[in-house]
Amino acid sequence: MEKFDIVIIGSGPGGYIAAIRAGQLGLKTAIVEKDKELGGTCLNVGCIPSKALLTSSDHVMFARKEAAKHGIVIDNVQVDLPKMQQRKDKVVRTMNSGVRALMKTNKVTTFEGIGTIILRLEKFPLNRRKARHRKSKPKTL
Ligand SMILES: Cc1cc2nc3c(=O)[nH]c(=O)nc-3n(C[C@H](O)[C@H](O)[C@H](O)COP(=O)(O)OP(=O)(O)OC[C@H]3O[C@@H](n4cnc5c(N)ncnc54)[C@H](O)[C@@H]3O)c2cc1C
Repeated sequence: MEKFDIVIIGSGPGGYIAAIRAGQLGLKTAIVEKDKELGGTCLNVGCIPSKALLTSSDHVMFARKEAAKHGIVIDNVQVDLPKMQQRKDKVVRTMNSGVRALMKTNKVTTFEGIGTIILRLEKFPLNRRKARHRKSKPKTL
């Protein structure tokens, strides 16, 4: 069984920043993420993709409403939604690999799976709950 000084569950901004700091402090650190990609809500479905799309829509608004005021003539402004989404996906992917690289440079081991805190029954005899794992084989860290 591989042992770590600290195991962080979840690789959102809370988790990956904690993992980086723990690694920098010299702790043997692992991070467990149930999603395929690191970065959590913020990077994958929240702040980053929403701001990437907002930037695109800002450009549309500029082209439609502001450009003419600057003497810039842009005719027939159209939105290619799939392309806009592709750009957003690329931004997210780039940042996903950035977080992965940060884990590597700070010597943080990453695991894909569901992290569970297992209470030791001899310490908590009244607690009869068992950790449930989905699909994958449990691995104790
Ligand atoms: C549309 C949207 C836009 C947003 N925009 C902004 C913004 O502009 N600015 C801002 O500051 N905030 C924004 N937020 C909020 C921001 O996303 C959250 O505050 C931030 O993600 C919280 O970080 P976290 O690390 O606590 O949790 P999360 O980012 O949710 O990360 C938790 C991670 O833990 C994983 N996980 C959970 N349980 C387990 C388990 N048992 N085992 C393994 N992995 C597990 C999850 O899969 C997830 O990856 C936005 C949110 C949304 C939805």
